[in-house]
Amino acid sequence: KVRVRFAPSPTGGLHLGGVRTALFNYLFARQHRGDFVLRIEDTDQTRFVPGAEEYISECLSWCGMTPDESPEKPGQYGPYRQSERKPSYRKYAEQLVQAGYAYYAFDTAEELDEQRKTQPNFRYSHENRMRLRNSLSLSAEETATLLSAQTPHTIRIKIPIDETVYFDDLIRGRVSFETNLVDDKVLLKADGMPTYHLAVVVDDKAMDISHIFRGEEWLPSAPVHILLWDYLGWKTEMPQWAHLPLILKPDGNGKLSKRDGDRLGFPVYAMNWADTKSGDVVKGFREMGFLPQAFVNMLALLGWNDGTEQEIFNMEELIEKFSIERISKAGAKFDFEKAKWFNHEWIKQATNDQLLPQIKDIVAAHSDKKVSDDYLQAVLSLVKERLTFVEDFWAQASFFIDRPVTYDFDAVKPKWNAEKASFFESFVQEFTAIDNWEAPEIEKFFKEKVSVSGIKLGELMMPFRIMLVGGKFGPDVFAIVQLLGKQEVASRVSLALP
Ligand code: GLU
Repeated sequence: KVRVRFAPSPTGGLHLGGVRTALFNYLFARQHRGDFVLRIEDTDQTRFVPGAEEYISECLSWCGMTPDESPEKPGQYGPYRQSERKPSYRKYAEQLVQAGYAYYAFDTAEELDEQRKTQPNFRYSHENRMRLRNSLSLSAEETATLLSAQTPHTIRIKIPIDETVYFDDLIRGRVSFETNLVDDKVLLKADGMPTYHLAVVVDDKAMDISHIFRGEEWLPSAPVHILLWDYLGWKTEMPQWAHLPLILKPDGNGKLSKRDGDRLGFPVYAMNWADTKSGDVVKGFREMGFLPQAFVNMLALLGWNDGTEQEIFNMEELIEKFSIERISKAGAKFDFEKAKWFNHEWIKQATNDQLLPQIKDIVAAHSDKKVSDDYLQAVLSLVKERLTFVEDFWAQASFFIDRPVTYDFDAVKPKWNAEKASFFESFVQEFTAIDNWEAPEIEKFFKEKVSVSGIKLGELMMPFRIMLVGGKFGPDVFAIVQLLGKQEVASRVSLALP
């Protein structure tokens, strides 16, 4: 059975790369009717940030990727927080020591600092291990004495010398590593907590994980994991790995980092993240006005496409069409303008009902006017095509709710004059005669009046719009007139007449 996991560390807000990792796991699980597991990798207590786990869960549900198993919805493989699985790791670390694949290391933090000072490229590895304080360099008696005195120690993996380890990545094909370049990573820390390397292998095994989609930045850790699967005797059960391409800065110059957002003027977090230390709020896509469908659609195309020109996909289509073969090896450039285009397209496709709750909030935030849902829906139909963010509604449509306060009559060419003013005066008096108050009828009536007035149509259209809207923007004038209604149009014209 396909079982995948999204295994974030709760160290802060979710970067868009993290959400894309979750998405690819989710799509693969759904496509294969498998399980999508959320596992919280919180073994590094020094990097633990309160609120981060809640943020992650909220983010997944905002995106419509609810896990089948998670800390909140435990299945038979729990617990789903690594800190709660702490007792399960030590025995594997000890087992590795007994088998000669790992060793106790007694070096203190100060001793290691000293090494780093004297040796600029210091690595805890085969080059150095015999001159450091560990169960390989010390005699069995010395080690036993240190252990029985409860001397603080870690357990490190003993990386073999002169070997090549490899695995077949689902995206990259065969990837090999020279063991001589790999450090003797810590597996179990002095506080008894496992490190990421040990915990990830033990838990992927314990949770029956079949496939792993994770960021390319984890590729350098792969040799350690491969050796662990082997040394723990689970080699044949190793999941299949797919390392996802990096998400690059817009200019393609390096990885998009959490810090880039502020500098480049776009969000990198899925949702607002309030920094626990500084209290600063880092803006997220959700709060910036992205629809979750647009955000998901945009993420899916960062490193994947279906081989056609199609760019708009909903979740069902993504589940159906997703394929590992079409994930690229090369990094994917993040393009905020393109992200906004996705949102614009998704707003166009959204039904008025879907957008209405947000629209009502926006209107209530700006105006005391009470307007009916039907009216707002009608306005929305007229301006929807113009919105990049739902928030743009106010800039595009406020005049449907509140009367203009200023009028851009300077935009009228040739200049406004008494003749034009009297045209509009009589127009609003006479238009009470229009029976069928629909845009085409109104337009016909208006044009007839214009033709007898002797003024050019082009010289009257713009002033008409400005009297109703305040400026040179908005949808079709007659659609605006229809929606505002006779009374309101008459009032606005007489108010605006200079
Ligand atoms: N805890 C790791 C992270 O924060 C998970 C890496 C993996 O998927 O193996 O991304």
